[in-house]
Amino acid sequence: MTRIGHGYDLHRLEPTAPVGSGRPFVLGGLLIDNPTGPVAHSDGDALTHAITDAILGALGLPDIGQLFPDSDPKLAGAESSLFLREAVRRMRERGYELGNLDATVICERPKIGPHKAAIIARLAQCMGVDSSRLNLKGKTHEAVDAVGEGRAIEVHASVLLLESP
Ligand code: MG
Repeated sequence: MTRIGHGYDLHRLEPTAPVGSGRPFVLGGLLIDNPTGPVAHSDGDALTHAITDAILGALGLPDIGQLFPDSDPKLAGAESSLFLREAVRRMRERGYELGNLDATVICERPKIGPHKAAIIARLAQCMGVDSSRLNLKGKTHEAVDAVGEGRAIEVHASVLLLESP
């Protein structure tokens, strides 16, 4: 038995403090030096949010916003690895393991390529899987719309879950 899941997330990007209300730019748990960062209740890690939702979706469970509401004051500034670890815990509890993950990050800045290996290593550690099961792609939005103007970051993630032997 296999199950497929898709996750999507978008966060508005603003200049980071003290200039604006953007949080430090964190992607897949990796802190990246960037003049803008996500506006969010948690740390705004759009990649980790999309992966979390892909796993929860594959399992047919409530989504990240239902499990971790942005109205919960305890989650203000929360590290998103917390959400991903919980999704992985539920996956294993139900007898599944990650077959593979493929994710696409769309933003103008920062460039994803130079950070790909470090992001994958962090995600692999967080999820307790071999990094060969994870793939990441970076794209720009060709100067079109808010994402292309650098005012937002968008992520799509797909996962395949396999029934544990
Ligand atoms: Mg989010």
